[in-house]
Amino acid sequence: MIVEIVIDWRLKELEKHRKLREEDAIEVTDLIRCPLKRDFEEKFPDLYKASAYTPSTILGSLVHLGLENILSKELNAEIEVTREKRVGDHKIVGRIDAKLGRVGIEIKTSRADFEIPYEHHVLQARIYNWLFDLEKTVLVYVTPDRVTEYVVEEDIDEDEILKLIVDKSAPRYDWECKYCFFSLICPKKRRK
Ligand code: SF4
Repeated sequence: MIVEIVIDWRLKELEKHRKLREEDAIEVTDLIRCPLKRDFEEKFPDLYKASAYTPSTILGSLVHLGLENILSKELNAEIEVTREKRVGDHKIVGRIDAKLGRVGIEIKTSRADFEIPYEHHVLQARIYNWLFDLEKTVLVYVTPDRVTEYVVEEDIDEDEILKLIVDKSAPRYDWECKYCFFSLICPKKRRK
């Protein structure tokens, strides 16, 4: 059954993502989302894996796969590039979707095209500019109503990274709980 193959592929992708973090490493995505999520992913792996079955995340992964393939073939871009850097005692690790010399490309899918680029995506692009020593990162959005791109040239300094590491506000953004798999068990769940 094709659906089984798709789910199996998504589960492998999630596992690949989980392996990116060693125990002492902080992943870039952990700096731009609710800090409780990482703990929950480790404590409740089955709930984390449930995201493999969500149609919107499957769609997002397929868009990533397709666009990365095009960028690799047409522009000879490096795909899914990983890098780590130290800030004080912390090791930051990130994986950008594509890289073309000193230009990063990060693919985003969204249900709606209002208010893009989102604040947390711009923050992620700024962290990638620092982590990968980039001149800029292009955020490419694929939504049902618009396909567009935004260039982020600013980077971030180490003080701001340290502030993000110690900031344990949960959620980090008001809207996060609405889309969070862990809202089923989370004591900090907020209604927007
Ligand atoms: S439900 Fe809200 S507060 Fe709880 S983990 Fe999810 S985003 Fe964070």
